[in-house]
Amino acid sequence: MGTIPSETIEQIAAANDIVEVIGSYFPLKRAGANYKALCPFHQEKTPSFTVSPGRQTFHCFGCGVGGSVFRFVMDYEHVDFPSAVRKLAARVGITVVETSRGGAAEEDQQREARRLLLKLHAEAAEWFHNNLMKAQFAAPARDYLEQRGIHGQIIKNWQLGFAPDRWDALLKWALDRGYTRPQLLQSGLVKSRDESDTRSEIYDRFRGRIMFPIHNDVGEVIAFSGRLLKDEEGAAKYLNSPETPLFRKGNVLFGLHKSKRALIVYGKSGTNPQAFCG
Ligand SMILES: [Zn+2]
Repeated sequence: MGTIPSETIEQIAAANDIVEVIGSYFPLKRAGANYKALCPFHQEKTPSFTVSPGRQTFHCFGCGVGGSVFRFVMDYEHVDFPSAVRKLAARVGITVVETSRGGAAEEDQQREARRLLLKLHAEAAEWFHNNLMKAQFAAPARDYLEQRGIHGQIIKNWQLGFAPDRWDALLKWALDRGYTRPQLLQSGLVKSRDESDTRSEIYDRFRGRIMFPIHNDVGEVIAFSGRLLKDEEGAAKYLNSPETPLFRKGNVLFGLHKSKRALIVYGKSGTNPQAFCG
């Protein structure tokens, strides 16, 4: 089985109005700007299942299910994402041409994708670093590091950085530089609110964090680890990049990364490692 091009998925989503699709399974009742029904995913007496034609999403306030038209078909028909895509394609007469795995063209494509990902990581590391060195909004991060004895030279040597506490700072920066949404999603630097929906909103994965670049054997940046600047309830103190074509979470890498953190901490006498690592 091959992969379905994202343009095809977007085309299928655009052609399948969610109200029509769900309305073909069971009746929906108009309620203001939305539509309502008894939820098919849990037992209820008053309708809390809502379909929004404006957002092209569904949501149940009773059991919490929700998402795009693809998510609905997946949940209702108990099928995986590609099957839901094919069903909805057939419904509107779109032919799904899957690109096959293997072959020289695909290898070239993978190499090119890898090259772009490396470039994006290198540039993002530089951007995070410049933020930490110069930006006004990074002043609390500079103070934090200063208090822990991590001074300019260490920050430069390890190319430490800062991710602004905003939902779209990196996203805007990267889009301005010509990176595309699929490339950004593949890098793990941004996240999608609904992975089954190619039109879902995307946002910065790393927010309000001191950034540690993670390198491969030849010194290329392949991932990041971000330490939360202000502790928040429910937020992980350290957040790493997800697995990507560049980054497989192996023990070696993780070990290297940890020793780097330790180096930063122990590199300066009088620093309490707990204060920084913990
Ligand atoms: Zn429900």
